Parts: sequence; structure tokens; C-alpha cells
Amino acid sequence: MTAVKTATDDGALPTASEHATPEHATPEHATPEHATPIDDTSALAASMHQARRAELFALIPPRYNFRAHLVIPSLLTAFICAVAASFLRDLRGRELAIVPAMLVVTNGGEWLAHKYLLHGRIPFLEEIYVRHELHHHVAYTHQDMAMRHARELWMILVPAYAVLILLVVVAPFAVLAGVVFSVNCGLFVTMTALTYFIAYEWLHLSYHLPLEHPISRHPIVARLRRLHATHHDPALMKRFNFNVTIGLFDWLLGTLYDPARARNRAEPTHP
Ligand SMILES: [Zn+2]
Ligand SMILES: [Zn+2]
Repeated sequence: MTAVKTATDDGALPTASEHATPEHATPEHATPEHATPIDDTSALAASMHQARRAELFALIPPRYNFRAHLVIPSLLTAFICAVAASFLRDLRGRELAIVPAMLVVTNGGEWLAHKYLLHGRIPFLEEIYVRHELHHHVAYTHQDMAMRHARELWMILVPAYAVLILLVVVAPFAVLAGVVFSVNCGLFVTMTALTYFIAYEWLHLSYHLPLEHPISRHPIVARLRRLHATHHDPALMKRFNFNVTIGLFDWLLGTLYDPARARNRAEPTHP
């Protein structure tokens, strides 16, 4: 991944300054809500935020290996998908219809998991809530989304073992599809869900890259990043933009919020 390729030996990312430029300071990403003039109050809030970030950075285990965290889930997923693909037999075209159907289902699963698992204190699963809402959302706000150091992947990516947990969660659905439709469909359910999860991880990481990074400048990534940055507004994080990939279920369930579009709608029209 480019984030690591462009990192220095100790993992520090090449940002313009030690403390990344606030998101609101870059015109192409600026929104009026984020363009508040820096006064004493906001300067104090910014310094408190930096102090909290430093505390969270100190929580990263000394033995944490960001390179392993970055590549192992993708390699594991590629391996599982390759094994699953090797079991495909006599593939018929209509069996491929399960793939787009599963993409819709997993988009709904993403919305549900983000809203109720990552932002809800579910007994025995509180660690997931802590890592997401109390670590990830505190380290990165709508005004300060960029990572400074590759070791911060600890606060951005979900733990690598999540691939195996997902495999267990998906297994009943794969078996069901295998029984109701065909073994091939069951295999596609597994492959689609795992691949979707890895796409989620890489997309989410791209939203937290420094703004100077070429990936951040891609128009599609920039738009998706803006939606995700809105979700990182502490006042909005429990209400809007739970889809990190494509906002299909946010749109269906009325939780999609794009400040730029809302602002344009609110602009008075001149004859
Ligand atoms: Zn995020
Ligand atoms: Zn969240």
C-alpha cells in the first residue's frame, strides 16, 4: 500500500508538518462548518485534541507491527478466496447473480455493524465499541482526519483476526445459499463477503491518509472521504453516514448526510 511505501523507516508519513494541517484549512475540502476562524477557544480545543491524540498514540503496543496489520488480512482473504474458488464446479452464469445480491446484503451488514456494534455498547463486545468510538473517533475528527504515522494503523484498521470472525459469521449464510441454490452460490457468498470487508478496510484507510497523498486527491476518494469526515463530527457520528464504502443503506434509511449538498440546497436562488 502506498501509505507504507511512502512511509519513512520508522513509519512516519511525509506530511507537510509534524502536526497535520486541519482538514478545514484545505480549500478543496473546506466546508463553511469547518471554516471557523481560529480563535482562542478553537485553539484551546485543538491543543486538547492533540494531547488526546498523543495519549491514544501511546496506547499502541510497542511490538505492534503496522506492516503485518496492513497486509495479513488481505493475504488471508486472498488465500481463503483462492481456496473457495478452487471448489467451484460447473459454474452457470445465473449463479453469478448471487454476487450483486450479496454486495447489497453486506452493505446492509456494514450499516448495521457500524451503527449498533461500533457505536453501541453491546455486552461482551464492548472492546469493539472502545476501539472505534473512544479511540478511532477521538483520534480523528472531521477537522483532523489524517494519520501522521503508519503505526496509527492500529487505530484505523480493525484487528486482523476480524477476517476469521467474519468467516464464522458468514458461514451459516454460505451454507444456506449452498442448500437453497447451489454449492457454487455458497462459495460466492463467502468470497463476496470477505472481499467486501477488505474493500471496506482499504477504503477506510484511504480516508485517513494525509491530504497530500495522491490517493486522497482522487475525486471519488475525496467525495467518500468528505462523507466519512462528516461521520467523524462528534455531533453527527451516531446519526449519519454509517456506510464507509457506498452509502446505499444510508440513502435507503435516511442517514446519508452530505454537508456540501445540504448547503447547496439551502442556498437562496436568484432570479
Ligand atoms: Zn474513520
Ligand atoms: Zn464510526
